[in-house]
Amino acid sequence: MQTAPAPHPSAAIDWDALDALKYQDEDAAVAALLADPPLDPAARASAAAEARALVTKARSLKRRKGVMESFLEEFGLSNAEGLALMCLAEALLRVPDEETADKLIAEKISTGHWAEHLGKSDHWLVNAGTFGLMLTGRVVNLPDDLKGEASEVFGRLVKRMGEPVVRAGAMQAMRILGEQFVLGRNIDAALKRGAGMIRSGLASRYSFDMLGEGARTNADAERYLVAYANAIDAVGKAANGQGPLTSNGVSVKLSALHPRYEARQEGRVQRELYPRMLKLAEAAKKYDIGLAIDAEEADRLVMSLRLFEKLALEPSLKGWEGLGIVIQAYQKRTRALIERLASLSRKRGTPIQTRLVKGAYWDGEVKRAQVMGRVDFPTWTTKAATDVHYLACARDLLAVRSIFPQFATHNAHTVAAVRRLAASAGREDFEFQRLHGMGEALYASIDPPMPVRVYAPVGGHEDLLPYLVRRLLENGANTSFVHSFLDDDVSPEIVAADPMTTLEAKPHRHPRLPPPPRLYGASRRNSTGRDLSIKADREALTKDRASSDVPADLKVRDPSEAIAFAHTGFEAWNARGGAERGRVLRAMADALQEHHDPLVQLIAHEAGRGLQDAIDEVREAVDFCRYYAVEAERLFAGPVQLPSPAGETDHLEMHGRGVFVCISPWNFPLAIFTGQLAAALAAGNTVVAKPAEQTPRIARAAVKLFYQAGLPEDALQLVIGDGAVGGKLVADARIAGVAFTGSTEVARIINRTLAAKDGPIVPLIAETGGLNGLFVDTTALKEQVVDDVIVSAFNSAGQRCSSLRILFLPHDTAEGVLETLLGAMDTLVIGDPADPFTDIGPIIDGEAKANLDKHIARMKSEAKLLKQIDVSKLGGNFFGPAVIELKSLDQIDKEVFGPVLHVVRYDPSNIAKVGAQLAAKGYGLTLGVHSRLESFAEAVKKAVPAGNVYVNRTIVGAVVGVQPFGGAGLSGTGPKAGGPNYLPRFAEERAISVNIAAQGGDPHLLNL
Ligand SMILES: Cc1cc2nc3c(=O)[nH]c(=O)nc-3n(C[C@H](O)[C@H](O)[C@H](O)COP(=O)(O)OP(=O)(O)OC[C@H]3O[C@@H](n4cnc5c(N)ncnc54)[C@H](O)[C@@H]3O)c2cc1C
Repeated sequence: MQTAPAPHPSAAIDWDALDALKYQDEDAAVAALLADPPLDPAARASAAAEARALVTKARSLKRRKGVMESFLEEFGLSNAEGLALMCLAEALLRVPDEETADKLIAEKISTGHWAEHLGKSDHWLVNAGTFGLMLTGRVVNLPDDLKGEASEVFGRLVKRMGEPVVRAGAMQAMRILGEQFVLGRNIDAALKRGAGMIRSGLASRYSFDMLGEGARTNADAERYLVAYANAIDAVGKAANGQGPLTSNGVSVKLSALHPRYEARQEGRVQRELYPRMLKLAEAAKKYDIGLAIDAEEADRLVMSLRLFEKLALEPSLKGWEGLGIVIQAYQKRTRALIERLASLSRKRGTPIQTRLVKGAYWDGEVKRAQVMGRVDFPTWTTKAATDVHYLACARDLLAVRSIFPQFATHNAHTVAAVRRLAASAGREDFEFQRLHGMGEALYASIDPPMPVRVYAPVGGHEDLLPYLVRRLLENGANTSFVHSFLDDDVSPEIVAADPMTTLEAKPHRHPRLPPPPRLYGASRRNSTGRDLSIKADREALTKDRASSDVPADLKVRDPSEAIAFAHTGFEAWNARGGAERGRVLRAMADALQEHHDPLVQLIAHEAGRGLQDAIDEVREAVDFCRYYAVEAERLFAGPVQLPSPAGETDHLEMHGRGVFVCISPWNFPLAIFTGQLAAALAAGNTVVAKPAEQTPRIARAAVKLFYQAGLPEDALQLVIGDGAVGGKLVADARIAGVAFTGSTEVARIINRTLAAKDGPIVPLIAETGGLNGLFVDTTALKEQVVDDVIVSAFNSAGQRCSSLRILFLPHDTAEGVLETLLGAMDTLVIGDPADPFTDIGPIIDGEAKANLDKHIARMKSEAKLLKQIDVSKLGGNFFGPAVIELKSLDQIDKEVFGPVLHVVRYDPSNIAKVGAQLAAKGYGLTLGVHSRLESFAEAVKKAVPAGNVYVNRTIVGAVVGVQPFGGAGLSGTGPKAGGPNYLPRFAEERAISVNIAAQGGDPHLLNL
């Protein structure tokens, strides 16, 4: 395992050094772990034996399982019923209208084989006719005649009892599930219930957490601050000055205390969030109780450590032993973190509480690393590596006397092994921790009993859902210890297996989780981008750079000359074949990747795109080149044999058409420019490229890189100029096709120009604008909707053809969504796009801005301007993101190209009609749905034709080869860029038939 150099005790702690270890090589890190095992052979053997004994004992306990454990044992997440219940649990309680609640219940219940679960569980609640009876809220056995398939069962239940009863039952069932994990609706109720649990020996003490989705607005953050302050007050008063080690405490999520708790906003986090946290810490110190900072996503780690250091060294908190932090063993760099924490605790002079967890967001970390094109995952990819690393971290923590270690786990082996580590470190001053609703049987089996602190969420039903789903996922996963702990079918030897043995047997990263660059397998390497949560990566993109970093000196010809020159190159380039052309495209991809940093800066400066957008842009260009390289090899490898009659051979081959004109826009100055070129070239054409007049430097750089990658100059010619220059190119009789991305109006002009020419009729591949809608229903989660709307409508200052233009909100929940959306807009940073802290840059030019201003002026009188961010201080071409509520869809017919979101309130049960109104506008580019009802998503899809449909996510950011992109109707001609059908449109086909019988007969036939 790589380690960062150990810091000098008096030196400032270099938390950023941890980022150098974030994506360290897993195989090497595992080898280092195994070379220095946390337990010696004797301790290993006795830990495994104790773990097995714990499992056996826990299984023999009378009240061994809670409802949740029984429920998960029966339903898990590996069957349709478990997944259906999870979906229901996540959404049902927030649905305000009965009609939608009924639909949700019906849809989820109709997806499983419920009858198979009848009578299987040994918990009365789960067993009571399984979920079918939980639905009704009655605990009776399901009659035989109801033991049919799910939809039937459901149908009959509804018939017998009526929808309201079933609905009430389902709501009740979800509450029962929720109560397994949540201690109380408010802190007083939780304290009271907790005290009962302590009396009955199920817990020694608590750490309370306030439930909720992180703050999206300043108002949310204020609300959470009050909730945490009240909790500290109540817990503190009840603690009676026992001191933090034995009394109840509070755990805090920093994401609840600030709407922009992100590394890129660290300045604000330290300025605005820190004083809030300090206030809470001072209150906790006043009562001398514990206050721990929960661990969240890996991208936030370094920022939160810097904040924690400040707190730890705060003079007003001196001498208080309750300050705590949570660290995650699933991150590969945690031992280096512990080294720094040890220095901090020594510097502080008062012990720090440190809770070691494995980590709750493993799936999210994997997804983020893949989506963002990171070089690797920040976490281990195998459970065994996490388990062993946990023990190595435990040993490190126990070695530091100024740290009070807290071991949070529900895993019998982990508990047994930690006990041995503590014994060999000679420490008794530590505690175990578990989550409320989990691990009761495990800790009840330890003899003599050990102190256990229980982490207990507090909050109302409306807030518990995301937490509940996380726990369901955690417990239902088949890698989870809890999942098999109490399952008698799995032997204690397997349940409590020593993770060291597992890791020794399989010391390599998980074979099904290659690092993100290898996401698409051997044939196509995924692009990578810098990680803006890392300071060094931000600095690499902001340091001064000589313009020579991107090669750009280039001969630019006039349109006619350029076409003539490209003509001379066609035959040779076309003759090279797909494999050879693919090699050049791959070299181009590598060249782009190599010049990632200067290209990102150039894009930010010339096109005004934010740094993350610019990173995504470079990655997309790389992906296009690699994708079309594979396609060139696939489709242009040579003639393909077709079925033939005897005496004949028949083949089909594809080749280039001639000189293609590629006209691209300024809003994706590198990705679309490169993508068009790469496709045309892959198919064997030569190209005359005309980029937007606003972004010539980026185009020059890309063309130069193409040449450096081995593309002959007569295969690609750059022409710089405005629309008139493009017009000349299109009107030229010598061209063989046009690829165009831009406005619908210009596409029409090009189409007319092509039609008016004599000579061959050539293809036009056009990708134009959209009037993109997002339909939300009442099952959607408000915070997810707001996050995705902000990105879809305002990223790139709304200057993407895929950007969201019209948000359809249900009458029942529109107010709440709008309140959060408008509040979240206040937290956006508008400014210099080359600054990593900026969210939204300027509009491309004065003319575009003037058009947006005109639109706002009109809407102010015709509709209702709900909000526009004031950017008057910024001047230039900055334009404040705006939200406009329309009276009706009739008020908008055309794409408004900027950060202007239109909102329409509607009734989701009218989706066919409302969708038809949007469809009637004629566009069909991107379309979004936010709903937990698959039937609703289907209905939206049916009502609104669109090239790209996105469900429960943003509607921008199509990925090459994953979401082939392009629209229908007024939005484009197809085929889709970055898809398997794109290249043939750039090609000509030729069928070759040879009469082999002409030579006298067919030898194959005669040799049958
Ligand atoms: C008191 C307490 C406080 C907590 N606070 C936090 C917190 O602040 N932040 C936080 O993130 N979590 C927190 N957790 C949640 C905790 O991370 C999970 O409950 C814990 O990971 C489950 O581990 P286990 O030992 O109980 O179970 P096990 O079943 O032994 O381990 C499950 C864990 O293994 C890891 N894992 C699973 N599959 C893989 C794989 N293929 N590769 C790598 N790793 C894998 C994951 O971390 C998963 O959660 C807390 C838990 C407790 C008990």
